Amino acid sequence: MDYLKERELIVAYGKQLITEKLTTGTGGNLSAYLPEAHAMLISPSGIPYFETRPEDIVLMDLQGNILEGNRKPSSEYDLHSIFYRNRPEVRSVVHTHSEYATTFACLQQPIEPLHYIIGSVGEKVRCCEYKTFGTRELAEEAFHFIHEDKGILLGNHGVLTIGSDLASAFSVAKDIEVLAKFDTYGQQ
Ligand SMILES: [Zn+2]
Repeated sequence: MDYLKERELIVAYGKQLITEKLTTGTGGNLSAYLPEAHAMLISPSGIPYFETRPEDIVLMDLQGNILEGNRKPSSEYDLHSIFYRNRPEVRSVVHTHSEYATTFACLQQPIEPLHYIIGSVGEKVRCCEYKTFGTRELAEEAFHFIHEDKGILLGNHGVLTIGSDLASAFSVAKDIEVLAKFDTYGQQ
């Protein structure tokens, strides 16, 4: 099995999605781009993060074909691969359903810049239109909407972040949840 180190990193950050309360159950997903292979490693569909092992991480090409793995890949693989196909500087994509930020997404309301950590995301955390989960339409909407930002809200769904590595995409997802909390209480 190739890419053991990269697989272990996805397993480790998947557990952190739960411990940092950025998602519940099997919600959310994460991936890493492998530029030399023109491929990506993505978390599997429907396996709890604390039960996911490195061999459960699915190796896929950027057209949606499985290259290695017995598991079903996350149904949102298009949402990840569209960035690697078109923006090779993006090396990792993280998608969460964190509570406060997803509440903003359900209201289709941006998270306003009330605290300086917004700088890690963009001018504010903008929210794109609702598109059905797991579709190419959702992937295209998110891809065209994000521009220079590092993260956005997916309308009526959750959070999407990108980064030059898994640590930075994960850290932006965390910042967005904190900003959503600050915004919730800061505007009262
Ligand atoms: Zn989702």
